[in-house]
Parts: sequence; structure tokens; C-alpha cells
Amino acid sequence: MPQKSITNLVIVKDLLDIVGGQDAVILVKLCEKKRKRVTDEELSKKMKKKVTEVRATLNKLHYRGIACYQKTRNQKTGWYNYTWEIKKDRITEIIEEQQTEMLEKLYQKKNLEADYSFFDCEKCNERALFEIAAEYNFICPTCGGSMTSANDPNRQKELGVRIKKIEKELEILGIGEGKAQKLGHICKP
Ligand SMILES: [Zn+2]
Repeated sequence: MPQKSITNLVIVKDLLDIVGGQDAVILVKLCEKKRKRVTDEELSKKMKKKVTEVRATLNKLHYRGIACYQKTRNQKTGWYNYTWEIKKDRITEIIEEQQTEMLEKLYQKKNLEADYSFFDCEKCNERALFEIAAEYNFICPTCGGSMTSANDPNRQKELGVRIKKIEKELEILGIGEGKAQKLGHICKP
């Protein structure tokens, strides 16, 4: 069965976008397709981007351990060649850290919402109980934004849908419940 590209997952796309900028998703996709190490020149041709731009993206990914390179010396010219590789394990590892925390927060929010009457700030998302919000005339004490009721029945549903979506993608990445062990991958140049 052909393995689906992990770059199709929203949580992977979001992560690559934040870490490596707008070209990161396409770069990772290309590396995935190649299934072996690629040079930055090769990527630059395929992406129709300057080598310096490709290198900038690679360096950002390298900083988080997502991209690794191997340095080899060309015997004839004496120049160094850099060939790059994307560490999927590392992507999974970062996502596991981030999304586990996110899920916990969403679950908490969902559970609390079922029990109490909450008001949320529209600007900064600060949350307060009705009594507190009323005390502040429904103006957020943190940022001054207006606070509106969180007890919209649609919100419960929305939260549920968001949680399901994340859990489904985590499962595809092999981070389902019970599997949340550390991958312990180290990126070596
Ligand atoms: Zn606020």
C-alpha cells in the first residue's frame, strides 16, 4: 500500500509553515518524493527558487532538527557538497509534543463548558465565569475586549469536531493514544 504523504495533513503543514516559512511544505514534499538525499541546487531547480532561498528554508528546518545534511568533499574540485534529508520522525516528535498539549487544553475547555457558564474575550481569548465577567461589565480585564458567552451549543460541537480532526491526523502519524512514547530521534549531521 503506498504511504500517503504526511505533508497532506493539516497539522504537518501548519508546523512546517511556522518553522520553515512558506516554501517549507513544498520542499519537504519534494524530498519525500525523492526518497534519497538531495542537493540544494537540485531543490532550487525543482522549486524554481534561488539556491540562497532554498538554503534559508533548509537552515530553518535544520535548526529544529527536521532537515539534516551530509557534507562530502568533491575529490576533483575540493569543494564541499551538501546533500539533504528530511527527518520524518522528528516532524512526528515535534507534533506529538505540541498537539498533546493542545488536545489537553481543548478537552479541558470542552469539559468545563459543559458544567459552567463562561464568557470569552473576543480579542485575547481570556475566559471568565459569568459572575466575574459581569463584575467587569463584560469588558476583558486583560485587554479591554468585549466578552461574550461561551455557552453556545455550537461551540461544544465545534470543539468536539476540532478534537476529532486533530486525533485523526495524529493517528495517521502513528501518535494514537497509547503510542505516545518518546521517539528519541537525534539528528546527526
Ligand atoms: Zn481580552
